[in-house]
Amino acid sequence: MNYLSTRGQAPIVSFDQALLRGMAPDGGLYLPQTWPVFDAATLGRFAAQPYADTAREVLSAFVGAALPAPAIAAAAQRLTDSFHHTAITPLVQVEPDLWILELFHGPTAAFKDLAMQMMAPLTDAALARSNEKLLLLTATSGDTGAAAVRAFAGSEHTALVVLHPLDRVSPVQRRQMTTVDAPNVLNLAVRGDFDDCQRLVKALLADDSLRDGRRVSSVNSINWGRLAGQIPYFLFAAASLGAPDRPAQFVVPTGNFGDAFAGLAAKASGLPMRGLVAAVNANDALARAINTGVYARRAAAPTASVSMDVQAPSNFERLVFEASGRDAAATRDLFETFARDGESRLAPGLLSALRQEVCAVRVDEPRTALEIARAWKDWGRVVCPHTAVALAAARDLPKGCGPVVVLSTAHPAKFPETVSALLGFDPAPPPSFAAFGEREERLTVIDADLVAARAALRAVVA
Ligand SMILES: *Cc1c(COP(=O)(O)O)cnc(C)c1O
Repeated sequence: MNYLSTRGQAPIVSFDQALLRGMAPDGGLYLPQTWPVFDAATLGRFAAQPYADTAREVLSAFVGAALPAPAIAAAAQRLTDSFHHTAITPLVQVEPDLWILELFHGPTAAFKDLAMQMMAPLTDAALARSNEKLLLLTATSGDTGAAAVRAFAGSEHTALVVLHPLDRVSPVQRRQMTTVDAPNVLNLAVRGDFDDCQRLVKALLADDSLRDGRRVSSVNSINWGRLAGQIPYFLFAAASLGAPDRPAQFVVPTGNFGDAFAGLAAKASGLPMRGLVAAVNANDALARAINTGVYARRAAAPTASVSMDVQAPSNFERLVFEASGRDAAATRDLFETFARDGESRLAPGLLSALRQEVCAVRVDEPRTALEIARAWKDWGRVVCPHTAVALAAARDLPKGCGPVVVLSTAHPAKFPETVSALLGFDPAPPPSFAAFGEREERLTVIDADLVAARAALRAVVA
């Protein structure tokens, strides 16, 4: 299986190279050159076997011959070892046509664990193969950094540096990152906001002196390795509900559109689907683009679904590339214009193709709050604000058309302030929280400047 760039000006690479690079050298994102095919018999198996087996089979299809089979098996085994639920991604029915796919039973209680736990051993295997070292840098507002720290702690060939804004991530999220005692992990708490962290990461990624004998990359969802690890649960859920005979519709709480794109990748790989709804919060650039044809940047609005507060969803580029019939020149033009002007207009043909692929729905804060209250009242379920955004979008879908699956991306105890303000009690913590409550925190506080960041990095890179 080989990978090409959405901007069409980078060499074709194998899976391991796409994984280690993250972004393609022409500024595009990697996608498989051709989609694998999961036929009806395979889907039948995915409904019946343990989730980790499905994850291994799906990964194998996307990795191809680029990594040895035992490395892929070890990556899938990580799910069994680190998740606190035997089903890993349980699918729970709450109404005649409505299911909730619980993706929060991992070590940091958010769906990012599903991909990150597998990505870490795959990355190590790719590095072992080429005898290289990798420095991973990431800015986080909470969930990504925590999942990365948990997944990469103890990796043999990878050092991980996570920058978070000091005192601006929740105490739970901070402790998930800082109570890990691993010499290859460095937590930097930056005196500033998330944008300062992102700016520093960008500057560090461009700093050639860090490259000295090692690769430098990032772990956000521009990396195909992240998306590949999210495809199996779409296949599992749809197969469990009777695909291909009874196709499901998916509703995905969306920020960078990585999770939603993984659903489209499952569809491109043969999964019959009745549709995919991307549910966004007040940060609705994606919904405006698909519903009005203008993709425009706006100022960030803080919401309760913080992990979806995204202004320019990075995986929109993959969607545009696919919807345009893999027109790299048109994709390049759209995103270069957006980067330059902060706005791009979508051609009518592209727009109708996009609308065939996804329906995008904006959900405001009062509706999100209402859904949290309703889920408790109607089903006795406490849901996180991200899940509530998707539940609100699901409520507006026509009834009686077949199964609807709402992805539940985080455990509500990760966001206790929002939930307790609405329901009057704190959500019960998941089992994974017990492990880090007491341990000592390890973090380095720095000013938001490049010299300070570079000096702090010496703790993990000589
Ligand atoms: C990251 C995240 C999302 C958004 O996922 P994308 O792939 O960026 O669209 C939704 N919910 C939670 C809890 C998250 O952590």
